[in-house]
Amino acid sequence: MSSLKRILVTGGAGFLGSHLCERLLDMGHDVICLDNFFTSQKSNVLHLLDNPNFELIRHDVTVPIFLEVDEIFNLACPAAPGHYQFNPIKTMKTSVMGAINMLGMAKRCRARILQASTSEIYGDPEIHPQPETYRGCVNTLGIRACYDEGKRAAETLFMDYHRHNGVDIRIIRIFNTYGPRMHPYDGRVISNFIRQALLGEDITIFGDGSQTRSFCYRDDLVEGMIRMMNSEEKGLTGPINIGNPHEFTIRQLAELILEMIDTKSKLVYRPLPMDDPTQRRPDITLARKHLNWKPTIELREGLQKTIDWFRSIKISDYRPPTPRY
Ligand code: NAD
Ligand code: UDP
Repeated sequence: MSSLKRILVTGGAGFLGSHLCERLLDMGHDVICLDNFFTSQKSNVLHLLDNPNFELIRHDVTVPIFLEVDEIFNLACPAAPGHYQFNPIKTMKTSVMGAINMLGMAKRCRARILQASTSEIYGDPEIHPQPETYRGCVNTLGIRACYDEGKRAAETLFMDYHRHNGVDIRIIRIFNTYGPRMHPYDGRVISNFIRQALLGEDITIFGDGSQTRSFCYRDDLVEGMIRMMNSEEKGLTGPINIGNPHEFTIRQLAELILEMIDTKSKLVYRPLPMDDPTQRRPDITLARKHLNWKPTIELREGLQKTIDWFRSIKISDYRPPTPRY
């Protein structure tokens, strides 16, 4: 039997999805990229359109769709706070109805399915670093809940389809990931700081900048995602954290970017958004043990590649997906 597979990537035109599609095509697979282009643009996958093994479908995961596939990577969901808060009800629908539709497809096709879950499952964590056993501290009533609770419900659906219907599932919890092809106006911290520095605008630090994040380079993340999907270890459903355990304050990040880009930009301070987690760092013991995975690209090197990419594009060609960025 051929090991080449028909693989569906939902959210495949996005920042992580487009790189994943590339990797899967390089491995010789047939790739179907499904996206509604809410937070991405076709330019992310334009270079793949001539590949006979690549298909692009404009579709919304909240609506059922019938395809024949061997594997599904479910990435469709706005990921940046400004975008997922723009239409919070739609965000919840995307996570929940998207998971139901994709799990239904996986059940019908007997396909393996991977969910791109998130460190937001842990909310504003009281345990540090965060292991997968930590159940989290999420404010169900806050402005981040549409994303956090949607992703939590999706994890529940994945486990229930696994237990009740025998669906072969994988769950990874992704910690802050950055790299080339981040939308320049997605409002996330690295894309904001690089864009601001390149355009000579003020660098906007929310709060006093003492909150921490741990930043994983895109290629490391996608490698971990593929290893999780391909693992044949019996009973390995996850969740497994995928992220870089090196932690930085947001102020340290801003200073590093100012050091790397020659700019007249200055640091300015803005109010900290509601429920913004104060600390975040993955415990990656399980990823090391089960996937033999660890990140290989540290922040300075990954930032350089990202800055080079931002320099190579015309930022004005990008349309902010929502008014807040
Ligand atoms: P992204 O916004 O670039 O990609 C998401 C893609 O999903 C976009 O192309 C968007 O148009 C598409 N999409 C959104 N709603 C859709 C819908 N209803 N139907 C079809 N397509 C839809 O963000 P990303 O960083 O590439 O994130 C990809 C996945 O990884 C998301 O599920 C996100 O929650 C998860 N994740 C990312 C990070 C990170 O730091 N990058 C961290 C944790 C989790
Ligand atoms: N942040 C910031 N300035 C910005 C954008 C974000 O200081 O212009 C902060 C934000 O408040 C948060 C951290 O950077 O503490 C990471 O934000 P991001 O939106 O990238 O991701 P998340 O909060 O989901 O980890």
